[in-house]
Amino acid sequence: MKKAVKLAIIIPCYNEEEVLPSSIKKLSKLYADLQKQDIITANSEIVFINDGSKDKTWQIIENAHKKASYIKGICLSRNFGHQEALLAGLYNTDAEIYITIDADLQDDINAVKPMIKKYHEGCEIVYGVRNKRDTDSIFKRSSAVLFYKLMKLLGVELVANHADFRLLSRRAVEAMSSFKEKNLFLRAIVPLVGFKSDCVYYERQKREAGCTKYPLRKMILFALRGISSFSAMPLHLITLSGAVISTLSFLLMIWTVYGYCTGSTIIGWASLMSAITFFSGITILFMGIIGEYVASIFVEVKNRPTYIIEKKLD
Ligand code: UDP
Ligand code: MG
Repeated sequence: MKKAVKLAIIIPCYNEEEVLPSSIKKLSKLYADLQKQDIITANSEIVFINDGSKDKTWQIIENAHKKASYIKGICLSRNFGHQEALLAGLYNTDAEIYITIDADLQDDINAVKPMIKKYHEGCEIVYGVRNKRDTDSIFKRSSAVLFYKLMKLLGVELVANHADFRLLSRRAVEAMSSFKEKNLFLRAIVPLVGFKSDCVYYERQKREAGCTKYPLRKMILFALRGISSFSAMPLHLITLSGAVISTLSFLLMIWTVYGYCTGSTIIGWASLMSAITFFSGITILFMGIIGEYVASIFVEVKNRPTYIIEKKLD
């Protein structure tokens, strides 16, 4: 039998009053089970990070803390975002191992035990990977497949079908804290940390209550953040297509001059219009792509704090 470990379960919460009471119940049961089986120590914690919720989320966390002292809370001064809330939890809690999970518990908490087992086998990082996506809408499913394919094409190492349900050892969290970037896309940062890692597979459930805190707009911005902070490939592609387009334009110019010299030029409104619209479109698109990177640099150089803690329950 392995020695019990000090575990911290980190849960970011943004307007989760509908689902939180049920999640607290389930997590408390898991906590009691793990302790009974001597897998975790008595000073293990469940830490909720209130990410600037406008509903009763913080009151629910406070009440839970009053009833059970192993339930802790960190209240951020405003809404910073999911990834930022995760870091606030990881960097302000002391534990031997950390497991991050979403407040709606769509990810299966039964995977926690196998994750800890992998830690004892020497893994510093254990990725929770969903084996099916049939609880997702067709749109979310196909956009996810497309996104993973695109990221692979762009040379970004990602664990497919893994979001932010994972185990990190203290060593992995310390190593992660040396990544100072502000454009947080944790699922691509974590593999860069290295160390021995493995996956645990589970089935993801539907959200039990409340609605998603990742509407389409946030999803697109998150995907752009992932691309612009992990791959310079789009910039290389712009250069490459610039070279191809210039070569073609040069050939076109020779052909035009030849036509002029041989007297076979015609008044070509259609071809002129096509060329203008095509090239203006491409120019604006390329400027936009470069703009994404400039925006990324803009955020990094300002070096603003990733999160601000207003109060803590410990
Ligand atoms: N979340 C957060 N801050 C935000 C948005 C989301 O802390 O600004 C949390 C949210 O409370 C949940 C997790 O991030 O615990 C994932 O959100 P959600 O379950 O809505 O995403 P989905 O499962 O729909 O992708
Ligand atoms: Mg969810």
